[in-house]
Amino acid sequence: MVLHGTVPTAVSRTWSAAHHHVIEFGARWEGTFRDITARRGRGRLMTDPSLLVTRPALSDPGLLFRRDGAEHEPLSVLAPCPNLESAPIAWDALAGPYSRELLSVLDARGYAGIISGFDVDHIDTPTTWAAQGMSAGSPFGGAHVFRQTGPFRRRNLDPRYPNIVLAGSGTVPGVGVPTVLLSGRLAAERLGVTRHRH
Ligand SMILES: Cc1cc2nc3c(=O)[nH]c(=O)nc-3n(C[C@H](O)[C@H](O)[C@H](O)COP(=O)(O)OP(=O)(O)OC[C@H]3O[C@@H](n4cnc5c(N)ncnc54)[C@H](O)[C@@H]3O)c2cc1C
Repeated sequence: MVLHGTVPTAVSRTWSAAHHHVIEFGARWEGTFRDITARRGRGRLMTDPSLLVTRPALSDPGLLFRRDGAEHEPLSVLAPCPNLESAPIAWDALAGPYSRELLSVLDARGYAGIISGFDVDHIDTPTTWAAQGMSAGSPFGGAHVFRQTGPFRRRNLDPRYPNIVLAGSGTVPGVGVPTVLLSGRLAAERLGVTRHRH
């Protein structure tokens, strides 16, 4: 689940973690993995959340802008959660209260003022991803398990369909923007496109 919005820089400037991406680990990190990856019907929300806090304006100050007369920066908070098969959660009802709980966790971990300062404009949940056709409401396709990672990811050539070359996070070498760009390059090479021709 991801919260997207903005925060006044007067609030975020006081936070000690000032990086583009920060992962705020909870102490129960391994238990958290078990919570969210449990098999069908057994998954649950993290009992001790580990959260990804993303502040892209720290890399690109051009993203700062004025909102309601004050300087703001974009802010996203990502909370790993079970997919809809693991836990068929009624996200439409839960998203609001769960967001408030997560912001309280961050406030207690040093993000003072985030509860009232973070203007959340948009929330993505597994229900959002499911509505876009993603299986079990998971935007990551194959799981991040060893046998589906890197070179073991689905190949980008399928012998049954010789005129199709796959590219993107569902195929080799997997999830992530740099990885997906590599996947595009591999696909281009499979098509016989050489570097000097594009
Ligand atoms: C919440 C979240 C956070 C992430 N954070 C990071 C991060 O910090 N760093 C990082 O490197 N990676 C991150 N990733 C992973 C990264 O975003 C993906 O691996 C990458 O975007 C996948 O690229 P793609 O081109 O395969 O697919 P996408 O970027 O999903 O692009 C597929 C496009 O196809 C379109 N589409 C789908 N079906 C159709 C159709 N039938 N007709 C026409 N268009 C269609 C979709 O609308 C979409 O625009 C994150 C992913 C998620 C979900």
